[in-house]
Amino acid sequence: MGTVTPRSRGWFTQCRRAPNALDGTHFNDEETGAMVSARTLPVRNPRTGTPDTTITVATPDEVAAKAAALRAQQPAWEALGIAGRVAVMRRWLGEVAQRAVEIGERDAADTGGVSTSWSQGYITMTNIDGWVQDAEEALNRASVHRHSASMPDVEVRTQLVPYSLVGVISPWNAPMMLALLDAIPALFAGSAVLLKPSEVTPRFLEPLFASVRAVPELAAVFDYVEGDGPVGATLIEHVDMVCFTGSVPTGRKVAVACAERLIPAYLELGGKDPAIVTASADLDRAVMAVLRGGVYATGQVCYSIERVYVHESIHDEFVALLAEKARAVALNDEDVKVGHLGPFIFERQAEVVQRHLDDAVARGARIVEAGQIETLGGGLYLRPTILVDVTHDMLIMRDETFGPTIPVMAYSDIDEAIALANDTDFGLTASVIAGDESEALAIGRQINAGSLFLQDTFLTFGKMRTVGTNAFGNSGIGGARTGPDAILRFLRRKALMTNHGTPADIQNDRFGVKQ
Ligand code: NAD
Repeated sequence: MGTVTPRSRGWFTQCRRAPNALDGTHFNDEETGAMVSARTLPVRNPRTGTPDTTITVATPDEVAAKAAALRAQQPAWEALGIAGRVAVMRRWLGEVAQRAVEIGERDAADTGGVSTSWSQGYITMTNIDGWVQDAEEALNRASVHRHSASMPDVEVRTQLVPYSLVGVISPWNAPMMLALLDAIPALFAGSAVLLKPSEVTPRFLEPLFASVRAVPELAAVFDYVEGDGPVGATLIEHVDMVCFTGSVPTGRKVAVACAERLIPAYLELGGKDPAIVTASADLDRAVMAVLRGGVYATGQVCYSIERVYVHESIHDEFVALLAEKARAVALNDEDVKVGHLGPFIFERQAEVVQRHLDDAVARGARIVEAGQIETLGGGLYLRPTILVDVTHDMLIMRDETFGPTIPVMAYSDIDEAIALANDTDFGLTASVIAGDESEALAIGRQINAGSLFLQDTFLTFGKMRTVGTNAFGNSGIGGARTGPDAILRFLRRKALMTNHGTPADIQNDRFGVKQ
């Protein structure tokens, strides 16, 4: 990465490029049609709105070369065995610890100051340490050595064989966390990993990979390539499986590309996560939970609350209190470490949010709090925005908004609320805040989502080391990335079977069973 001279706002749009069909390494500028080198891309600073760094875009040859180098080193990594890899990963943990502050600062520069960004070094250490503790036991649990139940003379052993090279493609909203959530267990499993992070938020890579390079055995099997969509597409051509986190449209392209190569694709995609607040809920608790769940990180979280259903008997009181509390949420525009909400990380996301707000208002919604995207110091900000009189024919109730917007809709009975919550193409997470846990649990069991947050929102970290979940609808496909068994996604299971009895005689054998 290097420094570039800031340009005017709108620069990103000017830089959109279409891949050249001939070689994929040069691009036609969409506006002029001229062939330009794709070697660098400017990276916009979300707080100033101007680029302050560049990335060097990997060419297809560079992606191929990195993939080949990693693939060549993977057998030695696998041969270390789980105990050997755990020892290496412990050393990496120490290297991350030494750079934790710098990592946090770089991640915060990428996100414009999301509060968890400052902790990314420590979150990564927790992530590595979790697998140090869980990996060996998870692998042992998945290993079988016993006599067959159906053929008692046959002894069955399993062998877990890692996929040689795992490709990880990650988004911009939690740059470092989502680059590593799949990469770390893949490495523990014995795979090599080639990462393609988002071109929007690459600043965390430098300190992260300084920590990787300090551990040569790890650096041999963990590398990254920079660039935008075409680089991600090229990566898919060279890996043995893909872990993708991002939007539904890109996830679909990734799934098709993986299907063409008949390699597994694990997709963690978007959400339109509902919250239900029942008539018996504690109002203060419900407002506190919904406000944080709706606007934390400027709503740029896959499990953000995107729509709220409140019983009609408390709807007006709920909205009034929500608006009052929302007004007290401060922006961080003056000081990155002061305030609660940062700028939009990605300029185009602000355009999506504006489109959803305009569509809602045009269809009869009323904005009761905030609603104006502001340019402050060059960054694009939106204060917590509350809407009422919303319906399911509005974009803001159907498509992922990914902004600090909280549309609230009244319902009259709980079956209606559950039907509304389930009226979606997505099914990532949902929240229920009721009078007590048993009421919340009964409702939660009827909602189609991979994770249910009961009596609160945003409990996703509760499942991290504990249990895997599967999304419903368009929110994703493939085995879970959380819980100890997530490591098994990176392993093929082989069965080695020995017959300790007499082989079946073809003369005296029907369907392989002795007569
Ligand atoms: P995106 O789909 O635009 O991009 C994701 C990644 O895919 C980027 O690295 C991008 O360069 C790459 N890419 C683009 N085109 C590609 C192609 N044709 N082939 C391969 N790679 C390609 O997503 P985004 O805007 O960066 O991220 C926001 C989205 O991520 C939201 O929809 C959010 O809900 C989702 N998300 C999901 C989870 C989850 O766990 N379910 C977590 C965080 C974010």
